[in-house]
Amino acid sequence: MKRKLIILKLIIVTSIGFLIAYLSPKVVPGLTKYGSDNEIESLHQPLKKALPGEWLSIVKEPGQTFEQYSNSNPNGKTKNRNKIYIRPIGNFSYTEKKVLKSTSEYLENFYELPVEILDSISIALIPKTSFRIHQGNRQTSAKYILNNLLASNIPNDAAAYIAFTKIDLYNEAKKNFVLGLGNLVNRSGVYSMARFGNPDNSDLAYKMFVSRTFKIASHELGHIFGVKHCIDYRCIMNGSNSLIESDSKPVYFCPIDLKKVCWNLKIDPAERFMKLKTFWSKNRFEENSNFYHKSEILINSNVLE
Ligand SMILES: [Zn+2]
Ligand SMILES: [Zn+2]
Repeated sequence: MKRKLIILKLIIVTSIGFLIAYLSPKVVPGLTKYGSDNEIESLHQPLKKALPGEWLSIVKEPGQTFEQYSNSNPNGKTKNRNKIYIRPIGNFSYTEKKVLKSTSEYLENFYELPVEILDSISIALIPKTSFRIHQGNRQTSAKYILNNLLASNIPNDAAAYIAFTKIDLYNEAKKNFVLGLGNLVNRSGVYSMARFGNPDNSDLAYKMFVSRTFKIASHELGHIFGVKHCIDYRCIMNGSNSLIESDSKPVYFCPIDLKKVCWNLKIDPAERFMKLKTFWSKNRFEENSNFYHKSEILINSNVLE
């Protein structure tokens, strides 16, 4: 009788266990290996209240928790879609080409996906009706590039397909200019380097040009992989309303967005920190390299499994 009771108890306990597992919100197996929120928390600063004119003073955004992200079925890599493609549009100088090459290496380390730079598409393929002169600047329609020039030749294995151009871009919905435009459904985007300065002017100008290009590429790819604007920390996923605001944001993910991307793309954060530390150091951005060095130490001292 006593034995029967123990077996019955065991069955009930096991069933409750299964029921809890079944009813729990999406459980992410081995989440700690993708980094938990507090391991590297001490390296990050909360986002300060927006000043007048800054992004969050104009756009009210709700942010996005890890759970909201993991339940949103974001774009990621699949067996058949596992590469990032960069498409240059128009002509680039020797230095600008060098920056694009460097951007592809950066993204390889940032998203741990192979990156390929495709052949350039000629500006001549854009019809005259998709150009305009605005406040003395020759601009082309970001929408035309996205919906016509890019949509027709997205590589079959593209996890993301992004284009860079030196021409200033406009979007009919906005008055002046846009730095870029993306389409989450077909995982593509087009970004302009026209306002990033001349990288040949000085070492400082070169570094600024590099930093701006890396930031726009990594931020917009974050969107393609389903990450929304970050409102909690200073983070590469902060929205920005101007180049000045974009310049002031860091190059790295906050702990929450890092966890999202590592979970989605199955990235080992410790290994990623190590690679980015080396990458930034090689490119003479010691401050960024130090950030990843410190992140690496913290995450390695807190590994839970
Ligand atoms: Zn954005
Ligand atoms: Zn963030």
